[in-house]
Amino acid sequence: MERTGERNFFMNAEIIAIGSELLTPKRVDTNSLFLTDELNTFGVEVVMKAAVGDDRERLAAVVKAAVERSEIVILTGGLGPTEDDVTRDAVAQALGRALVYREDLCDAIEARFRRMGRKMAEINKRQAFIIEGAEAMPNDRGTAPGLWIAVEANRVVALLPGPPEELQSMFARECRPRLAQLVPPLVIRRLQYRVAGMPESDVDQLIAPVYKEYQNPATTILAAPGDIQIHLRARCETDAEAVALLALVGARIEALLGDRIYSRGGETLEEVVGQLLRNGMATLSVAESCTGGMLAERITSVPGSSDYFVGGFLVYNDAMKIDLLRVDPSVLERYTSVSELAAIAMAEGARDRTGSTFALSVTGIAGPGGGTDENPAGTVWIGVADQRGAQAKRYRFLGDRTRVRRLSVQTALDTLRCRLLAPAGAGIQRARPNR
Ligand code: ATP
Repeated sequence: MERTGERNFFMNAEIIAIGSELLTPKRVDTNSLFLTDELNTFGVEVVMKAAVGDDRERLAAVVKAAVERSEIVILTGGLGPTEDDVTRDAVAQALGRALVYREDLCDAIEARFRRMGRKMAEINKRQAFIIEGAEAMPNDRGTAPGLWIAVEANRVVALLPGPPEELQSMFARECRPRLAQLVPPLVIRRLQYRVAGMPESDVDQLIAPVYKEYQNPATTILAAPGDIQIHLRARCETDAEAVALLALVGARIEALLGDRIYSRGGETLEEVVGQLLRNGMATLSVAESCTGGMLAERITSVPGSSDYFVGGFLVYNDAMKIDLLRVDPSVLERYTSVSELAAIAMAEGARDRTGSTFALSVTGIAGPGGGTDENPAGTVWIGVADQRGAQAKRYRFLGDRTRVRRLSVQTALDTLRCRLLAPAGAGIQRARPNR
């Protein structure tokens, strides 16, 4: 960890969500998402999250380890009055501190019950115990007060209630001002690249030598089928420094990935392709077989896509390919519908029938059945046509039917993106029938 003078410049946080219900499929820990967002605005990075059941010993062990590792530990939940609300006890145990009864807190809880026209149950007195040395944080939405414990000068543990509205209100009123005092004013800035047409391992192998040189910015790679996201997060004292740091590291990554990067601002591939079509005042049509309309769905999910998308053909069997797209029956007979010439004829057919500037085609075997030795399941031909000609490329996607179809769509969109970026004079090799 980097330290400057008395204060840690990079403060890390851990969030511990307490409640056995959070370990079932029924309840999701959303408090930690809210807290992460809030902590990030202070330049604090969340480095660990845990969900712990209502068990004092386990929780005490988790808290003890967290306090040793991180400057800020925030716990949510388990502050209620019942036996299974173990947070106060467990944190006291982990820090080796006693619990002290506070008459004034008991009075405040009692007054809250009175305002609701109810009598406080004896059991609620448990909520008036605080950990020695802690500051109580009033709860304006519920009974359980929160606790803020300065463990050392630059190390805190905060206990917040579980119900999200109680937690959020307490965080805004009580934690934000305390964090502003505690945390040096750092900014976190992010840069995101999205990459198509490369597997995650290839992307990582290429850029790891660069990003591993830097602890700041921190780099994370997220992978979805055919879509790799590279996230850089810079933590600096000023915004200008963060911007400069991201520009420096970003330029090195961009030099390695080149036009494999399709987005620098988080835009989706269909948005990027749409913008390129709009910029070129071009239009698009599609001819889909194995993707059954998924390609058109992605394209039309972008608002305003009617500016450039003219329509599509869903041609699942040979008769439809022949009838709607005027694919030559002899091509299908001789080479089958999963072939280069079929994909080219489909793209050309869509373009001819609609008059669009560009056309994409997808034809393949999504699986799991239907494969042959020559064309196993996952074989997909993707074609593209424009006024320069038409071409198609064969892919072999691995995975189940859904994955093959998603990869087909992603690859088709990327094929068009590359075609749109190709210099105006770049011709397309037209496939010859005897190939
Ligand atoms: P109470 O005084 O209401 O008992 P508490 O601090 O003990 O408050 P819990 O009993 O742990 O809180 O949780 C109360 C409710 O708050 C849960 O049933 C759940 O609906 C919600 N909750 C708790 N923890 C979380 C979490 N991490 N994310 C989202 N909701 C949560």
